[in-house]
Parts: sequence; structure tokens; C-alpha cells
Amino acid sequence: MSSRREFLKTATLATLGVGLARPTLWAGEHGRPAPFNINSRIGAAPRMKLRFFPYELKLKHVFTVATYSRSTTPDVQVEIEYDGLTGYGEASMPPYLQNELGSVESVCAFLQKAQEVIGQFADPFQLEDILAYFDALSEGNAAAKAAIDIALHDLVGKLLQAPWYRIWGLDRQKTPSTTFTIGIDTPDVVRAKTRECADRFNILKVKLGRDNDKEMIETIRSVTNLPIAIDANQGWKDRQQALDMILWLKEKGIVMIEQPMPKTQLDDIAWVSERSPLPVFADESVQRLKDVAALKGVFTGINIKLMKCTGMREGWKMVQLARALGMKVMVGCMTETSCACSAAAQLSPAVDFADLDGNLLIANDRFQGMEVVKGKITLPERPGIGVVLNQQPTE
Ligand SMILES: [Mg+2]
Repeated sequence: MSSRREFLKTATLATLGVGLARPTLWAGEHGRPAPFNINSRIGAAPRMKLRFFPYELKLKHVFTVATYSRSTTPDVQVEIEYDGLTGYGEASMPPYLQNELGSVESVCAFLQKAQEVIGQFADPFQLEDILAYFDALSEGNAAAKAAIDIALHDLVGKLLQAPWYRIWGLDRQKTPSTTFTIGIDTPDVVRAKTRECADRFNILKVKLGRDNDKEMIETIRSVTNLPIAIDANQGWKDRQQALDMILWLKEKGIVMIEQPMPKTQLDDIAWVSERSPLPVFADESVQRLKDVAALKGVFTGINIKLMKCTGMREGWKMVQLARALGMKVMVGCMTETSCACSAAAQLSPAVDFADLDGNLLIANDRFQGMEVVKGKITLPERPGIGVVLNQQPTE
């Protein structure tokens, strides 16, 4: 508690300091007025306010894995208001990741704490200090932290009147195509779904790691020759079996492999990656920035998901670190609205593969944001994370 009191004291002093030393912000592009003129606020410094509410995501199709089925995903929406602008964020918590991401209750408890203290920060541009403070509030709570991070990035982008891909110096033309997952089902259903997707996407994703892996691939290949990304979800237990499978998949036009073996079998995965003709990406084996360096030489690349890594700030640092280590990068998502997907899409021009189909799976998206046009991720030119509220959530 003493560190928190110390923080509040410092934050208060910083607040008082705003009146003494006002930063000079850029004068605006092409002579337009500056988007955010702090000097007009003398005597009435705005304050950030955080709101949140649970928002259950309704899935378009029942989602079935070996152990259970579900038709909803727990989710909490976050809004940070400041100086007449609103930044949007989101925490999505698929039940199978509850230990890692939290529940609606734990996310709301964390956001309640954040709500009490966020007004102490005088300057939303100080993302490093603000997000480090929230990160230190408790262990875990990655999804709640991501929700705050995304809302704050959206707000800051709106204050700057620029989208994050531009702030980061990325070219929106260089966004990749997103993969779209073909669920495991009977051959007839798989063929029908593949036919339906083959016209809309440029690359498919298939989850393997069961006893019918080859049958699943042959079924899809009877319909289309599109490139396929494989997610084995830790399903192959033996390294020779994993390598044999990868060599077979290479012949079938598969282009990458995600998490071939259990997340802690790093020696076996390194053995496979060294011999694999396809790039091998970490998903379950990687969560945050601190995990990345140890995976060099084990995996070819990493899968970055904002809900796991606490948001855009850390996600972008993971891109930089992976590149510095000579590793490949992909960006993924949970089942989530266009809010979190559009936030992740901001860094997609910098990645090798994108798996951003989560918003396409839900029936009650609150937002419009990134779109998939002819299979390719298309970023809006709107500021921040580029989303606007849907007038009427699609049902
Ligand atoms: Mg995965």
C-alpha cells in the first residue's frame, strides 16, 4: 500500500506541475490547427474517467471442442473518456483460458481499482508510466490490462488524430491476409464450409492434433488449393511424429505450423523446428514480452495476442524484440469484437501471418473497424484503433 500512496502523491504533484510547465505540442499537419491544444485548458485540466460493463458475445455458430460446446464468450467493454473524447477497449475471456485471462468477475474487480485511480494521471500521453502502474497493481489479469491499454491507445490516437499504424510508422498497404479457421467436423460439413470460405479468404487455418489429421487435410484439399496454416494446439506428443507430420503437411501446401507440441517440451520443439521445412510458431508457449528471448532457437516465430500480452504497448514491443532476435511474428486474437481485433490489426503490417477472424464469429459486434476485403486485412484511416460504434449492434 505504501507504494500506492507514494504513487498517488507523485501523481498529484505531477498534476499540479501541469500548470507550471505546459508541453508544446506539434502545430498540426499542413497548417491545420493542432488536434489537441493543452494551452486552452488552463485552469480546467481535463481528467480521465474509466467506465466498464460486461458484454456477453453471442457466437454466430456453436463452438465445439472435444470437451464442451459453447455459444457465448464472456467479455467486458471499457471506455476511457477525456476532454470530450472516448477511447474504446475490451477484455475477452474464452472460458478455456480463464486461468490465464480471468473471468468477468476478476476483470471487473481489476477495472474497479483502475477506475478509482485513473483520474490521478494528468497526461494520457504518458502511456509507459500509466500502463506500468496498472501492470504492477496485481499479477495476471492480462485481459483487464489489455482492455485499459487498448482504450488508452484509442484515446491517445484520437488526441493525435492519427491511427496507430501511422504513429508506429507502418504502411497500411502492407497488411497481410487473415487466416480463417475451418472447424473440425464431418467430411461433408468440412467440404461445404471450405467451399464457402475459399472465395472470401486467401489462406485457411486448420486445427490439428487429433487422430484424423490427415483425413481433415485431404478433405479440404479435395475442394481447394489455398495455402493453409496449421495450429496443432500442443497436440503432437512425440517429436518424430511431429516432424513426420510436418514433412507430410509441407507436401500438401501447408505454409506454417503453430504450437506443434506441449508448451513445456521446449527441447523437443527446438529439435522439430531445426529440422522443419515450415516455420514453427509459439502460441501457448508465449504470453508476454519477458517470454520471447528464451524462445529464440526453439521456435521460428511467436504468435502475439493482445489479451495474453496485456495490450498494444507490449504487443508492439514483442514485435520489435522478435525481429531483433531474427524471429518471425504473427498476430492472433480471441473471439472478440472489432474493438480488440482492430487494435491488433494496427500492428499487422509488421507481421508475417495474421489470424484476426475473431470479430467475424460474433453476432453482436458493437463496432465497425478493421475489415477483411478479398481476404486481406483492411485498416480504416480513422484515428486511434479506427473503430466507431455500430448504430445498432448486429444480431
Ligand atoms: Mg493457437
